[in-house]
Amino acid sequence: MIRINENYLKLTSSYLFVEIAKRVSDFQKHNPDKEIIRLGIGDVTRPLPKACVDAFAKGVAEMGEAESFRGYGPEQGYAFLREQIAKTDYKSRGVNINPDEIFISDGSKCDTGNIQELFASDISVAVPDPVYPVYVDTNVMAGRSGRNIKGHYDGFVYLEGNMDNCFVPKPPNEKADLIYLCFPNNPTGAVATKAQLKEWVKYAKAHKALILFDAAYEAFITDPSIPHSIYEIDGAKEVAIEFRSFSKTAGFTGTRCAFTVIPSNCKAFDKDGNWHLLHGMWNRRHSTKFNGVSYPVQRAAEAVYLGDGPAQVREIIDYYMENAKLIREKMEKLGYKCTGGVNAPYIWIECGSDSWEFFDMLLSKAGVVCTPGAGFGRCGEGFIRISAFNSRENVEKALRKIEESV
Ligand code: PLP
Repeated sequence: MIRINENYLKLTSSYLFVEIAKRVSDFQKHNPDKEIIRLGIGDVTRPLPKACVDAFAKGVAEMGEAESFRGYGPEQGYAFLREQIAKTDYKSRGVNINPDEIFISDGSKCDTGNIQELFASDISVAVPDPVYPVYVDTNVMAGRSGRNIKGHYDGFVYLEGNMDNCFVPKPPNEKADLIYLCFPNNPTGAVATKAQLKEWVKYAKAHKALILFDAAYEAFITDPSIPHSIYEIDGAKEVAIEFRSFSKTAGFTGTRCAFTVIPSNCKAFDKDGNWHLLHGMWNRRHSTKFNGVSYPVQRAAEAVYLGDGPAQVREIIDYYMENAKLIREKMEKLGYKCTGGVNAPYIWIECGSDSWEFFDMLLSKAGVVCTPGAGFGRCGEGFIRISAFNSRENVEKALRKIEESV
């Protein structure tokens, strides 16, 4: 008898964005003439930078010529991209990362989910609340939790975020082995200072724990005092893996390219307490189960760092961040307390009521789709997330409609 992985039965309801899509589609069915502006799902709206499109096209053309055709590439990614990342994203910030410590992939979603395959199933996992749901659901699927009781899975250590701690939780009093941190944060837009990250590195060392640091929104940091990488903290390389993505940085959500950094001295332990290097384990996993990102896509990603690429990427990010500023200013003017929108493309708004109710109200009265905070965890209740990924015209229209509706 073929049997299922019963951990899937513990997963609560549908994935957040599936539920949003369902409510929007029901609303549209009943109100076919009403205009909808989507400020919900965190997908980019502006096209790829021209430098990336040109490099992409050139890569495709090379694949059509016998002399430049390439078959299977290195699973870890081409050296040209890994070297560029090491130089531009890390060395320029005083962080020494070897290109060999970088693994190119097709997404941080997959990487943050797949990485936990390297760890035992009975470790304790600490997850922020509110949280990017992928960290939680993938660990539930892997059997690291009990049942969901009132929005929290038994067995997880929840790192609660709130207005008092500005959504930057401190290390817990209890023991956690695997810790997910995400800064700039989705959904709250919060960022962690060097001092705050130092506390986490200290905790990880003291508890022989590992930090999974998701820096998918690193490019949106505007405050020069905020670290872009966990490796800006001394000693972090031994206790942290970092995830980055071209999705939000350069509009690659549909093109797919990201990377994971596993420093060569980053360790985890077996049941007898002997240490093992995670770099070799991930290399084994990556080369066994992953075929690499296509050559033209890696050339397109490389273009983010070359020639006109950086200025074009900056222009797109600045465009979204101007949207973020408009959203935050308007919501604050309307009397709502907000976080985010300064170093992140998300504005996290205290709505003062049930977040799905507020979602339904904004949808029906303003035709604006936001993301209800409850979908990101129990501590997200009472908040909504508005995304800056849209055209200026749509953002301005949405803000006018919100103003008329609340
Ligand atoms: N990490 C966070 C915090 C995200 O919000 C997202 C996407 O929304 C991802 C990772 C996924 O990135 P990718 O498109 O590279 O899979």
